[in-house]
Amino acid sequence: MPEIVFRRLALIGIGLIGSSLARVARARGDIAEELVVHDSTPAALARAAALGLGDRYEADVSTAVSGADGVILCAPVGAFASIAEAIAPHLAPGAILSDVGSTKQSVLRDVGALVPAGVHFVPAHPVAGTEYSGPDAGFAELFEGRWCLLTPPAGTDRAAVARMTELWRRTGAMVEEMDAAHHDRVLAIVSHLPHLIAFTICGTADDLADETRQEVLQFAASGFRDFTRIAASDPTMWRDVFLNNREALLEMLARFLEDAQAMARAVRWGDGSYIEDKVNRGRKIRRSLIELKQA
Ligand code: NAP
Repeated sequence: MPEIVFRRLALIGIGLIGSSLARVARARGDIAEELVVHDSTPAALARAAALGLGDRYEADVSTAVSGADGVILCAPVGAFASIAEAIAPHLAPGAILSDVGSTKQSVLRDVGALVPAGVHFVPAHPVAGTEYSGPDAGFAELFEGRWCLLTPPAGTDRAAVARMTELWRRTGAMVEEMDAAHHDRVLAIVSHLPHLIAFTICGTADDLADETRQEVLQFAASGFRDFTRIAASDPTMWRDVFLNNREALLEMLARFLEDAQAMARAVRWGDGSYIEDKVNRGRKIRRSLIELKQA
């Protein structure tokens, strides 16, 4: 592995994830010799420059990727197809094209087909984030101790996978390879469904009469407060995640609704042991997360 992972690394999108990656790369100095930053929003690009997140700031995406040996898409997944179309003719032979998108089959579909011969495509998903967005929201420690899942298509050059693994290891992440379809099912239950539930429960509370809503806010107990934190996430990013992991998300939602119905039945018929059993399972899961240092 080279001392520095990439000679020129281009980050396309400089929000929470892109700017966190830029910050850790700047702080360590052994991830990229030169960091090129692009964002489609001029204000985000100007803010990235003011924060000193890169070596160069390019408003034109094709200029940003020209001559780069590493390109990482850090925009919402719904924008990937048009970005891939714009950059494909400008990618250098031998370059590695990667991303940080939260859905992976859609990335294979939207980007995979447009990758020119001689360019290595190594999709990735750092399973780390907060409810904040934009270049100011990032921080260098975001990926420390978190998982980064790589979903390279079959036949991907192993040296390219090893280089992306090394990049993510240097951010402090633990790296694992996974099939894209499996990734989407796992993330549907551990991330996408909890967000769907949070957005929905906040909407339900908001729909209640004015008087009740005030009480909801005034007496918000920790359960509801935790939902509001998750529900404060970026609307574009989450719209794109839901629409790009449709099948797995709907499958997990259907299973959840069945289980919620079973819980409702237990409440209706006074089945205390069923309720206790479910609460105990929840406590057990929380304990395992704490033991795995993922809480
Ligand atoms: P973010 O803070 O909203 O940043 C995304 C940035 O990309 C914004 O500055 C956005 O500009 C810009 N952008 C939008 N369309 C673009 C385009 N066509 N070309 C270049 N830049 C574009 O979002 P984020 O949380 O960093 O998420 C970025 C990616 O990481 C997403 O694919 C998401 O699925 C993935 N991810 C997110 C999390 C999380 O928890 N947040 C965790 C893991 C992975 P505008 O704001 O003007 O649209």
